[in-house]
Amino acid sequence: MELSKRVQSIKPSATLSINARAKELKASGVEIINFGVGEPDFPTPHHVKEAAIKAIKDNFTRYTPVGGIPELKNAIIEQFKRDYGESYEPGEIIVSCGGKHCIYNLAQAILNDDDEVIIPAPYWVSYPDIIRLAGGRSVIVHTKEEDGFKLRPEKLEEAITPRTRLLILNSPSNPTGSVYSRKELEDLADVIIKHRIYVLTDDIYNKIIFEGTSWVSILHANPEVKEFTFVLNGVSKTYSMTGWRIGYMAGPDPIISACTKIQSQSTSNPNSIAQMAAVAALNGPQDDVERMVNAFAKRREYFLRRLEELKHVTFYPPQGAFYIFPNFSAYYGKKYNGQVILNSLDLTSYLMEEAKIALVPGSAFGDDRCLRFSYATSMKTIEKGIDKLEAALSMLL
Ligand code: GLU
Repeated sequence: MELSKRVQSIKPSATLSINARAKELKASGVEIINFGVGEPDFPTPHHVKEAAIKAIKDNFTRYTPVGGIPELKNAIIEQFKRDYGESYEPGEIIVSCGGKHCIYNLAQAILNDDDEVIIPAPYWVSYPDIIRLAGGRSVIVHTKEEDGFKLRPEKLEEAITPRTRLLILNSPSNPTGSVYSRKELEDLADVIIKHRIYVLTDDIYNKIIFEGTSWVSILHANPEVKEFTFVLNGVSKTYSMTGWRIGYMAGPDPIISACTKIQSQSTSNPNSIAQMAAVAALNGPQDDVERMVNAFAKRREYFLRRLEELKHVTFYPPQGAFYIFPNFSAYYGKKYNGQVILNSLDLTSYLMEEAKIALVPGSAFGDDRCLRFSYATSMKTIEKGIDKLEAALSMLL
């Protein structure tokens, strides 16, 4: 049987495939250093797990409103008031099965065939495929390392056509860890308002920010952009709750209602127990978040120090999230056992074979010169992993 053109036009998620492969190898007894997937290695905070257990015991196990329970919507509204200084109504919020699902709903709600979505590269691997599944076209705008991998307003303006519907911004960025400044966002907001395009601000990493950097959103930069803006967040990264699958999004009511209609015909409500857990995460004590961010900061420092010692590698120091996206292109063209390493995929395959390190090739993020490291893993693993990386690189001639 032939599969649909739609499914044939997309790739599986590179991050999830690499994670699955690393786990498979580990299960078969191979010692793998997993710098692949971006998922905090800490347990979900205790009080969050207790809230989920209570939800089960209270039989909170039936269908809920499709777009999320009122308690969770209220907790999100409060969080958005604190984080953005903006007020949202419950009808302007949707809770979905993870942040990815919110983006999927949005793409399905606003895109017609061949409508364009501007995505600055490097980008998170799933954006282009989610757009394609909705019939849209991704317009990739490449950014430069010397601009901190950030989209410049003139580049945005150049990319806009009458078919442009949406721009996706992600700060801190996966994979680069770049964080936009207020001025940079003000300039982008001017272009968005002038051309009346929507913007999705994917703020999933906004609590993971390192010393010396302050996080601002496009809504802080210019509140007038609110009528064009969808704000995306979730509990996965901040509270180490990747498996619970709770993401949420705020934006103009008619489109959020359309997203809710789509969700009513696909997944229905997100898991009732996970929604209760998310209420506890958002409303409860935040000290676990601080502990996790401090741990990421230490790992980041160590990682940067070790990368600086690698002769042929350059990188932009990340200011947030838990990724580093160094440029390894100096190794392309080198040989090992007669095999030439041509690109990021070849180099990640080599490092997997030789050093048993799992990494995601830069090509999956729209920049073939780089490899993505997630340092959401223990310091011991990082130390061992970089030792192995160093040894494997030195074998390339
Ligand atoms: N967002 C994380 C990553 O980039 C988790 C996996 C995914 O859904 O991509 O590794």
